[in-house]
Amino acid sequence: MADALTPIAWKTKTVLDAHAHYYGGEPAEHFHRLIDLANFTKANLMAITPQMNDLVLARKRERPGKYFIFGNMDHDQEKIARGDGDYLVPQIERLMERGFDGIKCLEGKPSLRKEWMPHAFDHAYYRPFFACLTKNKIPITIHTSDPLDFWTDPAQAAAYRDYHPQEEYFRQAEAILERHPDLKINFAHFLYLSPQLERLERLFERYPVFSVDLAPGGEFLYYLSDDPARARAFFLRWQERILFGTDLSDKNALKHGRAKAEVLRLFLETGEVFHNPTAAAMGRPPEVGSNGRSEIQGLDLPQAALDRIMFANFEAWVSKEPKPAA
Ligand SMILES: [Zn+2]
Repeated sequence: MADALTPIAWKTKTVLDAHAHYYGGEPAEHFHRLIDLANFTKANLMAITPQMNDLVLARKRERPGKYFIFGNMDHDQEKIARGDGDYLVPQIERLMERGFDGIKCLEGKPSLRKEWMPHAFDHAYYRPFFACLTKNKIPITIHTSDPLDFWTDPAQAAAYRDYHPQEEYFRQAEAILERHPDLKINFAHFLYLSPQLERLERLFERYPVFSVDLAPGGEFLYYLSDDPARARAFFLRWQERILFGTDLSDKNALKHGRAKAEVLRLFLETGEVFHNPTAAAMGRPPEVGSNGRSEIQGLDLPQAALDRIMFANFEAWVSKEPKPAA
């Protein structure tokens, strides 16, 4: 399978991954190779813990001009208990001074809500945080919810029984938009709304600033394949609100990471019907989505839509070039 490890040939001149990670599990050199194999012009590395902030900053220093970085807040348990989030504002300012391009927020993930973050995003604790980001036009990617089937899959249902229902996470997403309509916010993983496409459409209509990214949670690949004509019309209509993203990380073997990019190339650029190559790259049988579908139908998007989704939307949202590391 040596031929599988050639760099991906994309249709767009620039490929900018809005949603990638360097976790620090593998050497930096492995990660840079992975990015080269996926053939990304640029990538946005998002820290999901405060400890990872230094790691993504180091990657940015190693390859100037290549990596945008989004930093993570260092939440304090005592301040959380008091519901006072003012201290987060200087943290944002410090990150911006150090060369961060935006903020990443993972604590809308159900497991983290249960483990250490009792507050919903519309709690007063978050108000100074979102107000600072809005005022300074700082972009943020938020993870809220998880895939629908995590609440029903027998292997995970025991844990998810103790979490809020999925609907609560959608309520919070809309509450953020309602309170901060000008916040430059991206919801990761298609906001897990592919099973409710009409609902995402209503949010796009009502709140004109936010976007969603395509980092799998691959459920959207299967749900959107149920009605490819409708999915294609959705992507054409909302082509300025969708960001290319892979969730590629240093933890991925080269073959696996390449497949995480390739599945989105097949989905966006081609009209092919295919199985998710990520499963094959890990030596597994074809993955089956929670709607029971294993075949994915490519959208065959026109070049203008590809250009927006693959890089121009991110450039308009964040910047054409990453900030220099301080
Ligand atoms: Zn991610």
